[in-house]
Amino acid sequence: MRIVLLGAPGSGKGTQAKKLMAEKNIPQVSTGDMLREAVAAGTRFGLKARSVMDAGNLVPDEVVLGIISERLAQPDAEEGFILDGFPRTTQQAMDLEELLDEMGTPLDTAVLMDVDFDILLKRLTGRRTCSVTGKLLNVYFSSQEELDACTDAGGELMQREDDTEETIGNRLDVYRENTEPLIDFYKSRGRLVTIGAEGTIDEVYQRLLSSLSE
Ligand code: AMP
Repeated sequence: MRIVLLGAPGSGKGTQAKKLMAEKNIPQVSTGDMLREAVAAGTRFGLKARSVMDAGNLVPDEVVLGIISERLAQPDAEEGFILDGFPRTTQQAMDLEELLDEMGTPLDTAVLMDVDFDILLKRLTGRRTCSVTGKLLNVYFSSQEELDACTDAGGELMQREDDTEETIGNRLDVYRENTEPLIDFYKSRGRLVTIGAEGTIDEVYQRLLSSLSE
């Protein structure tokens, strides 16, 4: 199963990709996570990427393509993968198509995760990660019990550097301008399915599974 999860920041791509990865035993490939790892490692490249990411802008196409082609050549991606946050531009989508053609393993489906703008904003501004358990939480949507469990464990609710209100506005603009055109790109390839990505994580997951079995 080779799929792309498409959707605005905050649509839940990462959350759903992790669930699907656990069930289908294929890797979640998140360019955002890989770039954050490079930033955390403090490499020269990471330092350059950091300012671009903190501003909510896109890292150059050739950089992410390099990361993706290396990653998809790993043995654990042989049986399939879930792309999360890539492609984000038409150029990246064309490059991916070429890469997969060369590998003889074309994409099966691009799943568009559709969420109302107001909900996206709350998901992004409220998003926190527990510094101790690593659990992804949201100050608007998680229960008080879940939030307390983090602080009781001695943890702090950490906010991603690019989840500030100012950067979020830019990330959503960048999505509209650069990534939304991919909806038509995959439609024209006959590969697009759309799911409603509002509701609980499990509700969305059930919709995702049924869209993949159609
Ligand atoms: P994400 O975790 O997917 O929201 O990505 C976080 C940030 O990493 C984005 O705002 C971009 O700066 C960068 N990034 C992630 N994936 C890509 C991509 N496919 N193309 C360009 N930049 C990316």
